[in-house]
This record gives sequence, structure tokens and C-alpha cells, in this order.
Amino acid sequence: MENTHMETECPTLSALAWTVIKNRYLARNCAGDLIETPADMFHRVAASVARADRLFDTGADLSKTTERFEAVLASLAFLPNSPCLMNAGTPLGQLAACFVLPVEDRPEAMCQTMKEAAIIHGACGGIGFSFSRLRPRGDTILQACGGAEGPVAFIRQLDRAAARTDQNRRRPAANMAVLEISHPDIEAFINAKQTRGELRHFNLSVAVDDQFMECVNSGRNYPLVHPGTGKAVGRRNAEEIFERMASSAWQTGDPGLLFIDRINRDNPLPRMGRICATNPCGEQPLLPYESCTLGSINLTKVVENKEINFVELDRLARTAVHFLDNVIEINHYPLRQIEEASRSTRKIGLGVMGFADMLILLNIPYQSDRAVAVAGRIMSRIQRSAEAESASLALVRGNFPCFEHSIFPKRGVRLRRNATLTTVAPTGSISLIAGVSSGIEPVFAFRGRRRINGILYDDIHPIYARYQKDQKPIPKEVFQSAWDVAPEWHLKVQAAFQRHTENAVSKTVNLPGSATREDVRQVFLNAHAMGLKGITIYRDTSHGDQVLNTCTVN
Ligand code: UDP
Repeated sequence: MENTHMETECPTLSALAWTVIKNRYLARNCAGDLIETPADMFHRVAASVARADRLFDTGADLSKTTERFEAVLASLAFLPNSPCLMNAGTPLGQLAACFVLPVEDRPEAMCQTMKEAAIIHGACGGIGFSFSRLRPRGDTILQACGGAEGPVAFIRQLDRAAARTDQNRRRPAANMAVLEISHPDIEAFINAKQTRGELRHFNLSVAVDDQFMECVNSGRNYPLVHPGTGKAVGRRNAEEIFERMASSAWQTGDPGLLFIDRINRDNPLPRMGRICATNPCGEQPLLPYESCTLGSINLTKVVENKEINFVELDRLARTAVHFLDNVIEINHYPLRQIEEASRSTRKIGLGVMGFADMLILLNIPYQSDRAVAVAGRIMSRIQRSAEAESASLALVRGNFPCFEHSIFPKRGVRLRRNATLTTVAPTGSISLIAGVSSGIEPVFAFRGRRRINGILYDDIHPIYARYQKDQKPIPKEVFQSAWDVAPEWHLKVQAAFQRHTENAVSKTVNLPGSATREDVRQVFLNAHAMGLKGITIYRDTSHGDQVLNTCTVN
């Protein structure tokens, strides 16, 4: 009953979107009954985010801004990250998806990190940690009988704690563990997820620097460095370690790589410290205690008569930047340090979803030079519009507080409300709500079954379904699934987006089950050579518990 009633109230939502929204997003009373419709949810979010305008202009017309925000949300043309949809205008009020916490090599600081992680997970946030400062396993600890446990043991402790805080949550506790390639425990880290079921709440990424990549390319050894003393404590063959990472990723998908020098070349605040970690899915590099709210434009909404409406794209990007800057103002931050850091840099991450669907609507195969060109044009346009909006916000609201310490004054930029503006997120949940392909990924499968909260749903791609309904022949060259796209084209699309994205781009290179370890190694090498900030691969069947069962177009 409940289902039918709500569906008629929000005809734009698919059955799958409805299930996701009902189970995880809509507000409920203490008895667990729904107390809002999807339309109410969009109004709740729009009205509470619009309210920030009054902080800068007491005469601001809130109903006008609310209407503008509500229009883009309810039409599914722009959606903020899940915590914002879930919590805006509610007592929890925590709206950011991404956090990075510091990890210090002192027992009391490590306990503090565990506590802070539990608080953030309880507030729907995902966390990235760099464990590179922890002393290696077996290292002596003054006044203690045994040796240090090392980074991997601490990651396991955090994982167990995350499993506990995961109960009764609307969002799984997601984490990213980063370790520098020169850490003495790097091999244990690379192998940490080889046993099935281990570290379910963690993605692993090795922070790889350019010097290491040079050693890989020239077959040289590289030093392992003690994080406390800075002294070399061993040497490894770079090529062998590189192969081990590829082999491990071939087997389980982990680790991914973060090209840490490339990330730091785009660090807008180098004087505030080197970036060592990203959020769980890798798209948002952050300094310790920073947070970021993401938002994504639904690209299918800017296609008209098989053409891209760039004026509409500009309008959506500017509305989205205004929205996300307001979010920084009204967010209930889970920790004081996070509030301070987030407000001083005011990082936001505007990106896209439905890129693959947009290509289908434009009749362009994903695996084509035209698709790569469209990717570049779309993202450069979003970046430019985002800069324009951030500058006009700065005119009224002021530059972000750390502006003078940033790279912008030297570049001649005078107005900037936000230290970063663009990020391409995975949009794993919000793309389901919008009913479009996720992020910039190719369509995973045109017909398949998707498991949501343990229940399997038929999942037929909407554009594909329309072709079937109209009994039109399916143009197979345009309906390319992730498995039809060769790895180098995945990378070319990722690189095209990255060129115009200030933060990073979330992308998984899907490989068929028959792919070899050498194929993975080659993808890793190419990703670095193409200037990407990170790389994640997933080989079909390597986990055995996939979300989707594919069914090819026929
Ligand atoms: N995230 C999380 N738990 C999840 C999914 C995502 O903490 O189950 C965080 C994580 O930092 C991730 C970011 O949200 O990198 C963005 O993920 P996505 O775009 O898939 O989130 P959505 O807004 O679609 O839920």
C-alpha cells in the first residue's frame, strides 16, 4: 500500500529508485513510519540549504532560492551526496560524504582516531586515513615488552570497530586505508585483503610517488624508509613490488594506486601541508580533518534533440556551486577540528552522473574519440561555470579564509569562495535515485538484477527498455556495457575528465574474468603515464559476490 501511494506521488522515480529512497532516505517517526514523500524530502533539503543565504544577506529572498534548489533536485537534474539528502533539515544535520582523519604514532592518539572514526561513521560519513606515519610491525616501543603491531593490525582494529558501528545504519561505514610505497610494511599491506571477507569496510590504496615509478620503469631498487627516523631500513626491487600490487588487484580488486605526487601538484594549499590521503572511493584528496560535500549533475538532463544544451549545463553548475557553498555553512560538523578545517578551505566537489547514458542519447559509443572529446568539453564547461559562481559568491561572502595561503593569488585569481570546486564521485546511490548510469562509468549491464538490502530487483536500463517498448532495433555499437569497453578507453575517458577536475575522478576499470595479471600491470602503468591521480581495477568474478549479474544486450 505504502509503495503504491508514494509512487503515484512521485511519478519521475523508477521502482528501484523508490525502494532506495524509501529504505534509506525518507524521514521516519520514532515508530519507524515514513513521515515524508520524496517530494517532501526534496523540499526539506532545498529549504534548509537555502536558509544559509540569510547569513550573508538579511534581505535574501529565501523562497526564491528554495524554489530554485527544489526545482533542480525534484527534476533529478542535480543531487547532492547521500548524507545531505538524508540529513539536511533534520536534527543530525551532517551533510558531508568525505572525511580524512590523522593517524599519529602514539597509542593515545590512535585511540582518539578510533573514537573520531566511530563518531563520523555514526553521522553517515566515509573516512580516509594515511597509516604511513605508524612505525612498522615489530619495531621497538620504549617501556613496552613487545614490539609495535604495525599499520595493518591497526587497520584491522578499525575495521572491527566499523563493523560494530555499521549496525542499524542507513549507509555502510566506508573507509580508505593509504600506505606509502616506501613504508617497511608495504608487502603486508598489499596482501591484507587476500583472504576473502577480510577488511570488508576498507578500500586499500598504495600511495605511489614518481620516484618509485621511475624505479619501476628502469628496473631499479627503491628504499624502504622508517617513518619515525627517516632512515632507509631496506631496499626492494620496484618492479617486483609493482607486480605484486597488480597481482593482488587481479585477485581481489585491492589495492588501488594513488599517484601521490600528481595529487600534490594540484594541492591548492601546499603551505598547509602535503596531501597523504583521500576519501574512501579516491575522488577527494583532503588534508587531515577536512571534509567535503559532493554533488553531481545528471547529464541526461542537458541533452536536447541529440545535442548538449551548454547553457543549461552552465545554469545547473552555478546553482550547484551556490547550493554546495551553502551546505558548508549549515552543516553540523561531527568534530570541532573538522568544522575548523572545513570552513577554512571550504572545499566542494561538483561532478557528474549519467555520462554513459548521455552518450547513448547522443548516439556516441563510449569507446570512441568522440566520447573522449565530449568528456573534456562537458567537464571544462562545468569547471569554468563553477569558477564563475565561486567568484561571484566570494564578492558577497568573501574568499575562503585560507585564500592568502593558497596558490590562487599567485595565479592572479582574486576571488574564490572555495579552495576546490570539482570532483567526479562514484554516485553509487544517487545515480540509482536519478535512474541513470553512475558517475562516468559505462553502463554495467543493460539487463540484470540488482541486490538492494538483500533483495534482488530486476534492473533494466531505461533507455534500453524504451527501445524494446517501441520495438526499435537496438544499435549495439552505442549500447556498450562496461565489458565491451577496452581498458585503454576506460582510462582515456577518466583522463579527459581529470584534465578539467580540480580534485580527482572516481573510476573503476572493469576487466573481463579472462584478463591476466599482466593486463592489470599495464593498466596501472598507463594510468600513471596518462596523468591520472589514482587507479582502481575490478576483474569480473574476482570476488564472487558481485552486486549485479550481467546479461548482455541481445
Ligand atoms: N560513501 C560512504 N559510504 C557508502 C558510500 C559512499 O561513506 O556506502 C562516501 C565515500 O566517501 C565515497 C563518497 O561517499 O567516496 C561518495 O560516494 P557515492 O558518490 O557513491 O555516494 P552517494 O552520494 O551516491 O551515496
